[in-house]
Amino acid sequence: MEQATAVALEGSRCTVCSTVAFPASAMCSRCATPSAENITLSTRGTLWAYTIQRFAPKSPPYVPPAGGFVPFAVGYVELPEGIKIEAIIDCESFDELDGAPVRLTSTAPVPRFAVDTLGTQPESTGIAQ
Ligand SMILES: [Zn+2]
Repeated sequence: MEQATAVALEGSRCTVCSTVAFPASAMCSRCATPSAENITLSTRGTLWAYTIQRFAPKSPPYVPPAGGFVPFAVGYVELPEGIKIEAIIDCESFDELDGAPVRLTSTAPVPRFAVDTLGTQPESTGIAQ
C-alpha cells in the first residue's frame, strides 16, 4: 500500500542549462553534461493532453482491478518546473479533463494524478522561468 507520508516525484535539474528531467537522470538530455542534481517535483500541475483508455491493456504488465476493467484517462501533466509527466488521471467525469488542475496521488507503479476538485488551484499554471 501507499505510505501515509506525502507522495512526491523525484526528478533532476541540470546545473548547467537548468533542463528538468523525469525520471531523474545524472546525464542532461539537452546539453549532455553529467551534472544534473536531484529535485523534488511539484505535486500540482495542469493536464496538458489526455486520451481515454477504453479497452484493457495487455496483461501483464496491466493488472485489472478486482471489479474488472473500466475505462480510464491517461495524459501528460504539465508541472511548474516546465516538464510534462505521463500519468494515469483519476476523475469523476471525462468531461472535466480539458486543462484540469491535477494533484499527485501516487507514484508507483506509474505516476497517478487526480483532478483537483477542491478549488485550490495553483496560483499560476505557467512555467516559472
Ligand atoms: Zn543541461
